[in-house]
Amino acid sequence: MAKKKKNYLKGRVRVVLAGVGAVAVLALVLHLCYRSHTGKDQWTKGKEKEFYLNDYNDAHLRAAQKHGIEPIRSREGMDFSSIKGLEKISDCDLYAVDNLTHSVPYLTHNARLLLERIGQDFQDSLAARGARKYKVIVTSCLRTLDDVENLTKVNQNASPWSAHCYATTFDLAHARYIDLPSDGKPISYAEMKKVLGNVLKELRKRRWCYALIEERQSCYHITSRR
Ligand SMILES: [Zn+2]
Repeated sequence: MAKKKKNYLKGRVRVVLAGVGAVAVLALVLHLCYRSHTGKDQWTKGKEKEFYLNDYNDAHLRAAQKHGIEPIRSREGMDFSSIKGLEKISDCDLYAVDNLTHSVPYLTHNARLLLERIGQDFQDSLAARGARKYKVIVTSCLRTLDDVENLTKVNQNASPWSAHCYATTFDLAHARYIDLPSDGKPISYAEMKKVLGNVLKELRKRRWCYALIEERQSCYHITSRR
């Protein structure tokens, strides 16, 4: 009787262990799949830790294709304000729009809301630090297929790889900002780059957006996930 009970318990333990093992393997597979699409925050090994937002292009592109407009071939004769789903963005208290050369200042409704939210959270973060008020600068927005081709000098054919073609995506400068009249202590652009990065990191965590830091273009590349 005692032996039977022992065997029974052994059997139960094996079942439980097998279950735990299966769950662990499944979690690992899901984790790896997620990582392969979204990248991760990376930290430099230098004295000062700095994170890098590193969502890969395929994550941006999938969100853009899901939530954005149909890509537009050319600017020729195009009245962007007549296109359903597009909203014009222009300078306001929360952000400035650069002189855009390879894009036009239009976004989807939700991408525009995301931009406003980032601008507001950035200013709130500065205020919480007792810093002066600044606003972020939009350096790129909606691109036509021609814009992308002119930028890359590569013919993209029917399948554009740039999330900018869907109006869900915009770039914000991380190395320059617009100073607004206000009290508070001045802080460096390098410091503001981190403040803005933290704002993006938070919104990304809450699934508002994907974000990628582009050091060569000195900007954050951001795609709305709504
Ligand atoms: Zn970009």
